[in-house]
Amino acid sequence: MLFSAVIVTEFVCCAARLAWMADENAAGARMVAMDVLQIVQSCEPPLERDSLSRAHWLLVFGERAFAEKATVFEKTARSLLVQNSTASAFSVRNGLPHALMSGRGVDGQGHQGQFLAYLSLCGAELAEPVVLGGDIFTLDGVLRDLMLETAVDGDLSWALIAFSRYLSGTERWVNKFDERVDLDILLRRHSSKDLEPYCRGHHHFMAFSCVASRADWAERPLHRESLQRIKKQLNERVTLLEKQLLKSDPTEDVINDMTLRTVPTEGRVVYEFGHALEWLSLHLSREDARSEWVLRLVSRLCEAVKTEVADLHALKRDRSETVTWRWGNLGHASAGLGRWLRKSDVKP
Ligand SMILES: [Zn+2]
Repeated sequence: MLFSAVIVTEFVCCAARLAWMADENAAGARMVAMDVLQIVQSCEPPLERDSLSRAHWLLVFGERAFAEKATVFEKTARSLLVQNSTASAFSVRNGLPHALMSGRGVDGQGHQGQFLAYLSLCGAELAEPVVLGGDIFTLDGVLRDLMLETAVDGDLSWALIAFSRYLSGTERWVNKFDERVDLDILLRRHSSKDLEPYCRGHHHFMAFSCVASRADWAERPLHRESLQRIKKQLNERVTLLEKQLLKSDPTEDVINDMTLRTVPTEGRVVYEFGHALEWLSLHLSREDARSEWVLRLVSRLCEAVKTEVADLHALKRDRSETVTWRWGNLGHASAGLGRWLRKSDVKP
């Protein structure tokens, strides 16, 4: 009896010690992440670069960009919405009162929904007024344009991120290709197609995470089957990442993937881990966000972000496409770190 009492006491102490160590590890990773995020947020926003870099820069301030970083946000968001940048396919409005009509087949980067997706991730409100040439309009108009532009067989990653924030889920409409569209059709399509290749499918998973976070959509019988499929695919990808990150060299498998051959070597860790953390932090539970494999990902990402900031500062005058991409990756990495900090906090 005494013997078993000793074993039980030992076991309880050991479990308590492990839990304490896990808390210490998470607290340490959070401190580092806070410092790194502050370093990025104190960088000069790349306003002089193209609209793709500016759109990504909004992500640096994450979900609270609208409320807490009004000056940076105003400058960046307004410049996207108002400036006439005809040389770029990425302008939301291209200097016109309506969103740029890009048509079927424009997917991936430069998709007409990309900027609205980023604005939605930064907490932008639909009723936010934007002044253009004396006219006042709102993001509501950009959303309506996106609904018209959304082709059922196109890449739905960007549109679903924006729709998950702005639509109730019961809307039905006819797009400009004369297709009948509703959330049921879009979720069925997105959940049963092959992974979109852009940014190695991370934006496809971001759309999954945003959609899965809508508890009210999951309750609708029409959406239930698609959402089950979406959650299954999310969980499978999480299991794979967990397995890869728990190996002795966590970057080996993830970074050396064949599909990464098209990505410039510089900044690959920021690109891959930053994009992953962005959707993982939305999808994972608070407890999972503090697990060992996620802490490894965060710690490796933080080291890489610090190096990347120093590199990009040294390359300030470099106008190459590679540098533009690297600023963009930094935006996704910061959004991921910011969201992870909120998710991994012990206070809900
Ligand atoms: Zn990307």
